[in-house]
Amino acid sequence: MNNLRHLLLLGGGHAHVEVLRQLGQRPLPGWRVTLLTREEMSPYSGMLPGVMAGLYQPAQALIDMPALTARCGVELLLDRCTGIDPQARMVLRAGGPEIAWDLLSIDTGATPDTSRTPGAAEHALPLKPIDALLPRMQAITEAAQPGEHLVVVGGGAAGFEVACALAVRLPASVTLVAGASGLLAGFPDGLRRRAKRALARHGVTLSEGRNAARVAPGAVHMEDGETLPASAVIWATGAAAAPWLAETGLARDARGFLRVDACLRAEGHADIFAVGDVASFPEPLPKAGVFAVRQGPVLAANLRAVAMGETPQPYVPQQDYLRLLSLADGRALGTRNGFVFGGRWVWWLKDRIDRRFMARYQH
Ligand SMILES: Cc1cc2nc3c(=O)[nH]c(=O)nc-3n(C[C@H](O)[C@H](O)[C@H](O)COP(=O)(O)OP(=O)(O)OC[C@H]3O[C@@H](n4cnc5c(N)ncnc54)[C@H](O)[C@@H]3O)c2cc1C
Repeated sequence: MNNLRHLLLLGGGHAHVEVLRQLGQRPLPGWRVTLLTREEMSPYSGMLPGVMAGLYQPAQALIDMPALTARCGVELLLDRCTGIDPQARMVLRAGGPEIAWDLLSIDTGATPDTSRTPGAAEHALPLKPIDALLPRMQAITEAAQPGEHLVVVGGGAAGFEVACALAVRLPASVTLVAGASGLLAGFPDGLRRRAKRALARHGVTLSEGRNAARVAPGAVHMEDGETLPASAVIWATGAAAAPWLAETGLARDARGFLRVDACLRAEGHADIFAVGDVASFPEPLPKAGVFAVRQGPVLAANLRAVAMGETPQPYVPQQDYLRLLSLADGRALGTRNGFVFGGRWVWWLKDRIDRRFMARYQH
């Protein structure tokens, strides 16, 4: 055991589950592998709005990390990483001694950005971490009554899907605060029009063109002075980098995410990889799970290459990708290469893709 070298995987994100699966199929000779991650059940974000809508049981959208790591011959440590010392090749954690590694891979994702709106961190429910979200969503679901107001802040794909899910599932009224950038910024106009029609059909009030200025108990105060009553506030705004990354000394972009080279290595560090939302690729990529998923096989191959003293290969991001949004009522909207489509068959397609993804890691 002692003369084995150590590959440490940090975070049970979408890319690392693929690395685990491939290690299970083909172990790394001469290496032991550990996964350090915070949550026993790792969420697949694509299905979370479906859980909120009652279309899936929570277990269908969660990957059981103890079971997956056991199947793949990887040691699991359930703990929170608090820092990295790249020179000493150590990872620090909240609940135990530091961990030495020879090769490190980081897939710890991003957190919803509550820092820019006073009161959001204290009074809003962020979509991540998921182990805090699901029990509180359960409480909100059970408590929701007609006449209550739920406010979802964030007009991106996650906020839109969550607003649809809550409106379909609960008797409460739902407001979606899409902010100054508007609903689904960056999506084609045709999709945004259809999305607005879907919100209207579900009875969701859409607020666009102004940001939430402050969150207080029972209310969201808008920047134009209006107060939205809110028995619960769900926070689904853009991704922020975890604060502990700042202490690592690793190169970061202006938003605090780890800068990587074309082969997904932390800039200037041949022994550290970073992927998914936590990474800042040379060509800026959206913080979307689809990129973490596509980086998984490249990361697996590159970790193997470096472990065996070979040269890693560049990751080539897809220029466009299929984006699918659940409307929570058995329908979905989609877009690819500028085309926009919607309907029951799109939900069927999304459900099929998501179930196929999960089947790779759940069984
Ligand atoms: C409700 C919702 C719906 C979404 N729908 C879609 C969609 O349909 N399509 C799409 O492309 N994107 C979607 N996204 C975005 C998507 O969730 C992210 O882009 C994706 O999860 C990023 O994957 P990742 O592997 O980088 O990290 P994550 O999936 O966030 O995984 C990070 C992992 O690291 C662990 N971790 C984090 N910090 C620490 C720490 N300090 N110590 C130890 N472990 C840690 C976490 O527990 C987790 O296991 C959605 C997001 C949300 C919130």
